[in-house]
Amino acid sequence: MSFKYIKRIPKADEIVAGLPLSRDLAGVKGERDKEIIAVFEQKSPRFILIIGPCSAHDEDAVCEYVSRLARLQEEVKERLILIPRIYTNKPRTTGKGYKGMVHQPDPKKKPNMVEGIKGIRKMHIRALKESHLTAADEMLYPMNYPYLEDILSYVAIGARSVENQQHRLTISGLDIPAGMKNPTSGNLEVMFNAIYAARLSHIFIYNGQEVATSGNQLCHCILRGATNHYGQDIPNYHYEDLIKVTEMYKKHGFSNPTIIVDTNHANSSKRYQEQKRIALEVMQSRSYSKTLRQMVKGLMIESFLVPGSQDVTGTVFGQSITDPCLGWDSSAKLVRQIAEYV
Ligand code: PEP
Ligand code: MN
Repeated sequence: MSFKYIKRIPKADEIVAGLPLSRDLAGVKGERDKEIIAVFEQKSPRFILIIGPCSAHDEDAVCEYVSRLARLQEEVKERLILIPRIYTNKPRTTGKGYKGMVHQPDPKKKPNMVEGIKGIRKMHIRALKESHLTAADEMLYPMNYPYLEDILSYVAIGARSVENQQHRLTISGLDIPAGMKNPTSGNLEVMFNAIYAARLSHIFIYNGQEVATSGNQLCHCILRGATNHYGQDIPNYHYEDLIKVTEMYKKHGFSNPTIIVDTNHANSSKRYQEQKRIALEVMQSRSYSKTLRQMVKGLMIESFLVPGSQDVTGTVFGQSITDPCLGWDSSAKLVRQIAEYV
């Protein structure tokens, strides 16, 4: 037996009872959910930016970031909805490296899952309290969703998880928009299969129970670029790529067909500064095509207080310890430029 059992993990209701969401903040989330869902249901002309660091490793820096974002949201509220990326668990390409706050509440210390689960809930609640912007997180471990299900307004399934049955089934039970990323191979049929699966109802094991879901009609795609057999990155944000995806959507006949474009990852080859050009190109493409204006409803942008990235042992406040991000000034400028296009 090679498992060493370290500690019992408290169930979600125990953690939630210790760190409850106030009634006021639950009200804020209810209102935000309605505004965000209206975009996906083509009832609101606003454009969505899911924006923030690759990983949220430091609560103070994340709260400073979302507070700045809240001020920016006020400025652009007629045209944009800003959803902070507060990503608390990180998939790793080779399995090595920082796995996110849920594993390591302090990235310089040993993993501690119980403290990690408490830490992510505490951080998400504080960020919501200080900004009133409900956030996005990645669903890397579907079994952890109950710890945050009353807080998040958006969930993404990463490129390495999108083919997984448990992820697809779990998304089918959410009543918030969920983005399925294209897999790292770039195979768009895999992504559409994931969307199809998550829109169906299912019966399966979840949170220690047999559950039935009703299917998530807000599930949609996120284009994040691909990597070919030779390890080279192939972007999928250009006009022709987007048109092909709209045609695939039409073939599937889904309601609320929505495309979100991730401007970093294999689309930028993690040359994070390119995110500005990529974002503006997508906005330009939207202005050429009515179909794209209807379907491309948002961008995902990696941004933090300080540009670039640092090693996991680094001490720069507000700089990413995973993928390199745009810094605050260029992010704020880009958000204002994007708003001009909407
Ligand atoms: C991310 O969003 O930081 C991420 C890991 O994305 P992907 O799954 O597209 O690699
Ligand atoms: Mn990233």
